Amino acid sequence: MSVLLAALEAAKALHLSTPDLRDFAPWPVDLQVTDVTPNLIPATQHVVDCTAPTADQTADFVNAIKALAPHASWKRTYTEEEVGAEFLSRYGYFELYGPTGMAKSESCRAYVGYWGENLVYDWHHHEAEEMYFALAGAATFMTEENDAVFVTPGQTQMHTSNQPHAMATGAGPILTYIVWRGPGLAGLPQMRVE
Ligand code: ZN
Repeated sequence: MSVLLAALEAAKALHLSTPDLRDFAPWPVDLQVTDVTPNLIPATQHVVDCTAPTADQTADFVNAIKALAPHASWKRTYTEEEVGAEFLSRYGYFELYGPTGMAKSESCRAYVGYWGENLVYDWHHHEAEEMYFALAGAATFMTEENDAVFVTPGQTQMHTSNQPHAMATGAGPILTYIVWRGPGLAGLPQMRVE
């Protein structure tokens, strides 16, 4: 699928030219393109239509994601009971590469994730370490240890293993590249049980 290869090329160029990403996880050398059955959700079209600002270094990857979006297997981890219908109507992600990704890798995992405007992604955690890289738009990231950080295109936010974190968008959406590493690569985020 040429749109997938184009997206992987754009992701690789960005990954290898960004010290934070490069230092966090190597670009996987074991990628094998697989056949993925598309699964489209409301967020798919939001991504295709996304006009949120990008950075110079993220524009190519964003355009490649818009072209890939209708072919991707979009997922939502949470139920309406957990996060509400509003959240589900403007949120989604797909696994670009990884154990069950559009390109298979046993060594690394990365997602493309989208959150529309005015959403709160409540406190959650997961075993794998994580680095968010903002591609378009912006959001405020929260951890218990540090002050909230407003992350804009070209900036990163890291979470350690099982570190609780939350995120909120403002008047616009955020489109992100999310890299996981370490134990728990195959796990999923867990909402905090209060
Ligand atoms: Zn996370």
